[in-house]
Amino acid sequence: MKRQMNSIEDIWQSVLELMGRELTPVAISTWFGECRAVGMTENSFTVLVPSEFKRSIIAVRFMAPLKEALGQIFAGDMDVYLVGEEDVEDAASARGVEETADPNEYTFDNFVVGPSNKFAHAASLAVAEGQTTVYNPLFIYGESGLGKTHLLYAIRHEVARRHPEYNIVFVRGGDFMNELITAIQTGKNVEFREKYRSADLFLIDDIQTVAGKVSTQDEMFHTFNTLYESHKQMVFTSDRPPSEMPLLADRLRTRFEMGVQADIQPPDFETRAAIVRNKSMKLGLALSNDVVNYIAENMTANVRQLEGAVLKIRAQSDLMKTQLTVSEVSRMLKDMFKQKSSYVPTPEGIIEETAKYFSLSVKELRGQSRTKNTALARQIAMYEIRKLTNLSLEDIGEIFEGRHHTTVLSSIQKIENKVAVDKEFNQMVRDITSNINALG
Ligand code: ADP
Ligand code: MG
Repeated sequence: MKRQMNSIEDIWQSVLELMGRELTPVAISTWFGECRAVGMTENSFTVLVPSEFKRSIIAVRFMAPLKEALGQIFAGDMDVYLVGEEDVEDAASARGVEETADPNEYTFDNFVVGPSNKFAHAASLAVAEGQTTVYNPLFIYGESGLGKTHLLYAIRHEVARRHPEYNIVFVRGGDFMNELITAIQTGKNVEFREKYRSADLFLIDDIQTVAGKVSTQDEMFHTFNTLYESHKQMVFTSDRPPSEMPLLADRLRTRFEMGVQADIQPPDFETRAAIVRNKSMKLGLALSNDVVNYIAENMTANVRQLEGAVLKIRAQSDLMKTQLTVSEVSRMLKDMFKQKSSYVPTPEGIIEETAKYFSLSVKELRGQSRTKNTALARQIAMYEIRKLTNLSLEDIGEIFEGRHHTTVLSSIQKIENKVAVDKEFNQMVRDITSNINALG
């Protein structure tokens, strides 16, 4: 897509156009006539579908063309959330169509503790039990699928049990934003403020989505101050620490950093095995140690994946039968392994592709030249490596002739900043990403 896109409405128009190549105009106007794009993040797109009936039809029949159109525009997979008017107000139910887990299960009891999440767990528990007032705010961060949302619900659950009288407000960052937009449009600003500023406990999931959204950040800032001054506990989750959110307003960053930050890392082998054991027991599935170890050894990405594996086995197995063998399980999970081994580019591949795009040699790109073109290409390569691989800032520094990790971070932030404000630049970086992914 070469065309300039300035707003979410423009993007939505393009989505409709692209879908129009496959679907008839009647189908488009029937099903999408009243839809409105209401939210967008790096990797998700939220569409308001006022009619519940149409929402269900779109979810079943039109999800594929919708995702495909977005995929073409953004050169990558986008999650699509279909929401109703009521969802925009009821944040908890606007969690999207793909999440099926029951939040009532997200309790401390059901949370398996290991070295990778020990501190985040302990801090959450301390907050929930009201043992401390210095963990305010508690800021939990870590990659997707590692248990941040689980901990947030666990806090809610525990506090609600101890203090039924508390007004607990739980919201996802993106929903806070959508709700604010609606409030402004409908002149309900006062109600909006009242709702958030009257919280006794304020829980915000995925706060990273509001970074860069000016009025949302302003509102969050004032909410924060009001609650903080009246000693109300706040907990935020994010996919990264405040220091790595370049678009976050500084005054919010300093506030997020005022309390305690707790990161969650991917679980180690023992924790993975414990999680598999825990989840399977809950499903009434008795797995042998061999099978548990097999799963823990092979599913390493995150807890969501481990959980998916157990659910899959449960769905396919006959509970009456004798214990499953490793080879039966490996057959059941074949598809998931295939997914897991889906292409992760190497840093070398990324550097090569980026160098090619700028007509540079790999040596120039890695080297010390400070010419504008080379420096930019180098920053983009660092950004891509960070985005597409699991390497740390230190690792990336090593690849680039031992540069310091702070240099790497500031390079990546430069690109992130530019991608966020400059559409053409954004498109260029997306082009490079798809060139890299095409290697797979
Ligand atoms: P995040 O919000 O970090 O992306 P979630 O909290 O949604 O991750 O966790 C993904 C899934 O993995 C959830 O079903 C959650 O219950 C489960 N999960 C994550 N960590 C643990 C853990 N330590 N013990 C048990 N289940 C976990
Ligand atoms: Mg989450």
